[in-house]
Amino acid sequence: MYLKSIELYGFKSFAHKMKFEFHNGITGIVGPNGSGKSNVADAVRWVLGEQSAKQLRGASMQDVIFAGTEARKPLSYAYVALTMDNSDHVLPVDYEEVTIARRVYRSGESEYLLNGTPCRLKDVAELFYDTGVGKEGYSIIGQGQIEKILSGKPEDRRELFDEAVGIVKYKKRKAASVKKLESERENLVRVNDILSEQERRIGPLEKQSEDAKNTLSSKKT
Ligand code: ATP
Repeated sequence: MYLKSIELYGFKSFAHKMKFEFHNGITGIVGPNGSGKSNVADAVRWVLGEQSAKQLRGASMQDVIFAGTEARKPLSYAYVALTMDNSDHVLPVDYEEVTIARRVYRSGESEYLLNGTPCRLKDVAELFYDTGVGKEGYSIIGQGQIEKILSGKPEDRRELFDEAVGIVKYKKRKAASVKKLESERENLVRVNDILSEQERRIGPLEKQSEDAKNTLSSKKT
């Protein structure tokens, strides 16, 4: 699996439609300070589901939309599409090529697309579990992040190792199952409450029924 291309429109400084094509081997993006190199890495992080505006060096999520310049009006939405070559099927889908896209409007409305079909953020995250790709993966190491990893807490560093050894998806599944189990346990408590409430009513109801029968038979005689 390798990154084939990134398409951007309206994302940060990319007011024009732009397509970066990558091939096997190393590709470098060079340019003067502030020319938008880190915006490309931000775009990759964003399309893979980044939810933190701070991680994208902005104050709010709408900050990723091209804000306009003296010569150009602001745009109404940002769009990024990332295409991976999946001929080795590292990503667990049948497609030879996988395109993940994300779009956000100024209204806040947003969507994810997997090969053109709308999908959930969860689907995007699950697709990349344990591949090293993904917003938590180790394939995107931003400026200053090495320092953060080296001086960070062991728990934070562990996430990186979990991803590298490929146990993230099992940990996530376990967490989801534990959560489900917990909610089933709560349901059971509720059912038991209802049951004991109903059981409490059985005695008086039996008595009422008995009395009614007795009254009926005494009326008959
Ligand atoms: P450095 O080498 O200093 O890290 P860089 O080449 O990585 O810089 P970036 O930080 O990626 O550059 O890009 C910053 C540029 O992107 C700035 O010129 C900023 O004005 C522009 N920019 C960021 N967000 C937006 C936006 N929403 N609309 C328009 N331009 C934006």
